[in-house]
Order: sequence, then structure tokens, then C-alpha cells
Amino acid sequence: MKIISNPLELKEYLKTNTKTLGFVPTMGALHEGHISLIKQARLENELVVVSIFVNPTQFLQGEDLDKYPKKDEADKKICELSGVDILFFPHAKDIYSEDEVSLLAPKVRGFVLEGNSRPGHFNGVLTVVMKLLNIVEPTNAYFGKKDAQQLNLISLMVKQLFMSVNIVACETMRESDGLAMSSRNVYLSKEQRVQALKISSSLQIAFGMVSQGIVDVSEIVLQMREKLEPLEIFYVEILSRDFEVLENVEIGNSIVLVEARVGTTRLLDNIWL
Ligand code: AMP
Repeated sequence: MKIISNPLELKEYLKTNTKTLGFVPTMGALHEGHISLIKQARLENELVVVSIFVNPTQFLQGEDLDKYPKKDEADKKICELSGVDILFFPHAKDIYSEDEVSLLAPKVRGFVLEGNSRPGHFNGVLTVVMKLLNIVEPTNAYFGKKDAQQLNLISLMVKQLFMSVNIVACETMRESDGLAMSSRNVYLSKEQRVQALKISSSLQIAFGMVSQGIVDVSEIVLQMREKLEPLEIFYVEILSRDFEVLENVEIGNSIVLVEARVGTTRLLDNIWL
């Protein structure tokens, strides 16, 4: 596995590449969720590039940028064992300059849900993803459904800016008890980890109700909110796969999304129905 930290060096290295290239952007502290994306990229492409970059512009003032988990050596080992060809490990100074051109997330879709509790977060996400895609120029780029709004906005960016990369949506990996894997789970104490299970359980309530033929969104959301108590809920929503408001769940076209705080940790989860 080759490790490159300079963006221009990576561009130069890939300049003559004619192979199909799968790209997995991450912020490191890799877990089975990331590994599943890498494995899918490995299966579907001749060359696999993973990036590890904790993007400062997607963190708001007072968020966990400085204490975001860092496991550089373990991450390198995981990438090597997962068959990654190139690990891109840039420094912020090589990605950003003082006076920046940047992207703005769409005014509506970028500022609801997570974008409502973290205004400006998706400006940073789209800007860095655009930069990374321009550096790597992949055939396919892999993103987790766990970050459903991020996936939706990146797909929108690729479509609206007429980019030619193919965005691949990957399933959410969970612990055996249902907790969605996340680099931020390490912040949870033992007790908080138990509390956090309310999030995946609330999604199971939605799944159960829909399986019984109950499709009324407000009825389902009410039951989910009850299950989530006493967590601080940022949102519980059931939207179409295009993030439009639904009155009734449409099977095959719905996402049930939850964001809640456990202790000081924000956790996101969703299921696609
Ligand atoms: P992050 O390092 O948190 O920025 O995540 C990098 C990529 O991994 C994103 O596309 C995430 O959606 C994806 N990802 C994070 N957690 C999971 C998970 N539990 N299952 C599948 N993909 C995930």
C-alpha cells in the first residue's frame, strides 16, 4: 500500500491511471462500517483509494474537532489488510488556503435535519468532498447510508454540477445489539452506550409498525419519540428518499431518520423502508 499526503503528488501519481478506481473518503478512526465500504470498493474496482482527513470546515465552533478520535497507526494497518492500494492522508494546510473558493449547500436541503442543528456543516462537507473527488478523480465513490443527508447532498452536488463520478450508497453496519457503528461511539460511557440503544430500538418500532400496515407518519413518529425518552431529540422524521415530507410511509421510497444526544454525544441513525 502506498501512502501519499500531498494532493498534487497523488494527482501526478494517478495521472496515467486507466484502471477503474474506487474511492472511500473517511475521517479515520476506522471501524467495520468503513471497512465494509472499502470491501465493496475492492470488489467493484481495479484500484482502491482511501482518504483519511478530519475536515476542519465541517465542524462548527465548539464542536469536537480537537478531540475527534485519531488512530493513525491502526487505520494504516486496517487499510493495508483490507487491500487498499493508496492511502491518501493529507494535511489541512495542503487542502485549504487562506482565501478560499468554497461551495454552499442548498439553502433548503442543506439546512434541515442535521443542517438545522449544525448550520454550515454541509457547506464544509460538500467543499471537501468536491476537493477530494477532484484530486482522486474516481470512477466510483462510496458513502454510507448511515449519513443519509450527507449522501443525498453529495448525490445532488454530483448531479447539479454535472460531475461524472458514480456515487455508491452502502448499507449501515451495526454492532450485534443494533447500535450503528460510528467513530464517535468511543465517547460513550458504559451507561450511555445502553441509553444509545434507544435510537436503533426506535427505528425498529417504525419498522414493526410499518410491517403491521401502520403507515401514518405522525403516529409512527409519536411512538418513536416515546421510545427515545429521556434522550434529547434533535429530530425524528420520516421522509421520502429525496428528502421530501411524507404523510404516509411509502414502502421502497422512505427513510426514517433520528438524531439524538446521549450525554454530550450526538448520534445519527436511520433505516430505509
Ligand atoms: P466518517 O469517517 O464518519 O466521515 O465516515 C466515512 C464514511 O463511512 C461515510 O460515507 C459514512 O457514511 C460511512 N460510515 C460511517 N459509519 C458507517 C456505518 N456504521 N456503516 C456504513 N458506513 C458508515
